Amino acid sequence: MEHHVTAPDTDNFLRHLIGGEWVDGDGPVTTTTNPADETAVAEYHPADTRLLDAAVTAAVSARREWDDRGIIARGLVLRRAAEILAERADAIAELMTREQGKTLPESRAEVGATVETLYYHAAQARNADGATYPSSHPDEVIRTVRRPLGVVAAITPWNFPLQIPAWKLAPALLWGNTVVWKPASDTVAVAAAFAEVLATAGVPAGVLNMILGPGPIGAELVARDEISGVTFTGSVPVGRSIQAAAVPRGAKVQMELGGHNAAIVLPDVDPHDAAAVLIAGAMGSTGQKCTATRRIIAVGDAYDALVPELVARVEELVVGDGLAPESQIGPLVSSRAAKEVTAAVDQALSEGAELLARAPLPTSGAAFVAPTLLAGTTELTICREEVFGPVTTILRAEDLDEAIAMANATPFGLTAAVFTCDERAVRRCIRDLEAGLIKVNAPNTGSELHAPFGGLKDSSFPAPREQNAATSAEFFTWSKIAYARTGTPRSDA
Ligand code: NAD
Repeated sequence: MEHHVTAPDTDNFLRHLIGGEWVDGDGPVTTTTNPADETAVAEYHPADTRLLDAAVTAAVSARREWDDRGIIARGLVLRRAAEILAERADAIAELMTREQGKTLPESRAEVGATVETLYYHAAQARNADGATYPSSHPDEVIRTVRRPLGVVAAITPWNFPLQIPAWKLAPALLWGNTVVWKPASDTVAVAAAFAEVLATAGVPAGVLNMILGPGPIGAELVARDEISGVTFTGSVPVGRSIQAAAVPRGAKVQMELGGHNAAIVLPDVDPHDAAAVLIAGAMGSTGQKCTATRRIIAVGDAYDALVPELVARVEELVVGDGLAPESQIGPLVSSRAAKEVTAAVDQALSEGAELLARAPLPTSGAAFVAPTLLAGTTELTICREEVFGPVTTILRAEDLDEAIAMANATPFGLTAAVFTCDERAVRRCIRDLEAGLIKVNAPNTGSELHAPFGGLKDSSFPAPREQNAATSAEFFTWSKIAYARTGTPRSDA
């Protein structure tokens, strides 16, 4: 099948990938812009219902053949995709920085992690069997057989425009599903570049379909009867609406949602060292991480020791265009996002928060927000609601009990961190902090691909299990239980 190649370096006009063809949409032209300087990055016509129908139909038609290929062959396609992505790493990292805003080292790290994700899932093909159980009938063996869900809808956010899609697409494809993917509308060029890598690697026509467009086309997608599984990463309200649309008709859903992550600092740690880690956790990726440190809870004397260290770290941050080598913090994804973060900081100040530090801003650019350190209390709106930007608030707790209660005082439960050398305090935090991922003397952010990942409370659905639900076979397959007899047929029931 012929492919119109939308390589990012040759063509800034993006198309949807449907049934192996790169096709134009019908909607009015939409442009994505570089948040650092507002220059155009890519243009496309968003998908409408007609294209959505075509994408779903293509995914349904491609199921059988993709399933028949077998998991080893599918794994080899993912391995080839890893190789191609590695070859294109520099170009795609640069595109990511231009479209999303993160600094070039952050983009390079994300591309590298995505290459690893593809290799990891490619290798899973070799361990693909289900479990085997003995039977009370000597000629029988009982085993579980993994079967693909069918057509999976993947809906992804803009903050990790390559890695989060790879977490979803790679296992979905490996386990024999076909996919309709709707990436975030702020990062369509990176999405198209990734789809092109997968198509070039040999993902057959119809097996991966990508439709570009805003939220409502995603809502239409998850409501379709043909979709048997929905994997979503994004905000809580959108996640809840997807759950409401997909669960009642029996679709499996898996969602990674927002966070309001706390780091507790006890007085026994070196405040200088802790501050470096805390600011990296709060401000990395311009604070646009679901796992970012949103609240720093300093216990007792730790507060006065930590404040000057944090202030110094924030004030020395270099904010600028992500392509400039000196930049440590890029712009937010858009000027719209910057306005929201600025409004949240203004609201916090009007509610009584104290402004402790702000990094200097570049002279121009509407998407830049100064990394900001506030002091406040749990009553502030900014200490309860997720603000997706480079802002963190320090709070004072009398003792560890109070710190844990404060850390738990949000509807979220994604990550938490504790800084101490006291092993009893660590054990206590691991037991009582309501978070899926707990870090000790390390940033709230960062997780490893092969380990479980997920949150409690509003942050994930379902809650984390022994495996990372976003990447595990468990989500992307049904298990069937086969009682297989090798001898003559048995007539008893
Ligand atoms: P978002 O919820 O606004 O959008 C996510 C995706 O959903 C986008 O593709 C969007 O177009 C689509 N969408 C919007 N409305 C929809 C609807 N009604 N039906 C179907 N799809 C719809 O989130 P965002 O602003 O792109 O990303 C930021 C959010 O993602 C933050 O809340 C952050 O915490 C969260 N996040 C969570 C994790 C995690 O692993 N827990 C990781 C990254 C980001």
